[in-house]
Amino acid sequence: MHSKSLPGTVCFVGAGPGDPDLITVKGRRLLEQAGGILFAGSLVDQAATLHAPEGCAIRDSKDMTLEEMSAWLIDAASRHETVVRLQTGDPGLYGALVEMTRLLDAAGVPWKVVPGVSSALASAAAAGETLTLPEVTQTVILTRVAGRTPMPAGEELDALAAHRTTLCIFLSITLLHEVQDALRRAGWPEDAPILVVQKASWPGEEKIVRGTLADIKKKCQAEKIAAQAMIIASPALGARDWPEIARSKLYDPAFSHRFRRATVTEDAS
Ligand code: SAH
Repeated sequence: MHSKSLPGTVCFVGAGPGDPDLITVKGRRLLEQAGGILFAGSLVDQAATLHAPEGCAIRDSKDMTLEEMSAWLIDAASRHETVVRLQTGDPGLYGALVEMTRLLDAAGVPWKVVPGVSSALASAAAAGETLTLPEVTQTVILTRVAGRTPMPAGEELDALAAHRTTLCIFLSITLLHEVQDALRRAGWPEDAPILVVQKASWPGEEKIVRGTLADIKKKCQAEKIAAQAMIIASPALGARDWPEIARSKLYDPAFSHRFRRATVTEDAS
């Protein structure tokens, strides 16, 4: 219980992608201290119930509006020193973070954010893929296609795909045909590799589908993947099986950096 007259702090905590072991140590400690936990959706309830102390108020936010959520958090902060808003992945990605913090600011309730492992990273990890590869792609775009939330001008997927970098596409598995159309308009070939990971990191439930621009939709339908999935399109996919790749400069014997002197000269490599 909170004895001071000042409100407690609302901590927006990234729960990670689903595996309860993928929350940060800091996030877990906050859950252990929490007087109230408001969690977002089915992905993170396990972490909440695993770590919450006895007597902690735990509430699923799935049927609440933004105003109801902030009212719940503000009320909990009037009684407890630590209140947690637990969100999937990282709170700064598609998490309505600032919409909520503005309401807390208006109510004079302090808040902070604890980052989490995003599902984009967990999906790449699940498939053993790298999102960047020297001389292939050095850029990752985290995006989505328009659903009820429109895309701002200039952020249409075909415009982003024209860069030929890694694309991690959230919230779009039911619009996979639109993703395919956008990549085609951007000139990606039909045999471009596409990865879809459903429930990345979930023990026993993760599904990994590897396909091409041409067949990824059929493969996802065959696997009945219609929700909670990440789409990754990247010229670096599958690189572990390529006959040759360019060497990463960081580990190249000819390359000096802050922590290591070159052992051979650049010319010798
Ligand atoms: N803040 C979250 C994203 C929330 S938006 C993060 O950083 O991951 C919800 C979308 O995230 C889903 O539509 C799906 O595209 C993706 N997602 C969330 N959890 C996932 C998981 N375990 N595996 C694959 N995709 C996931």
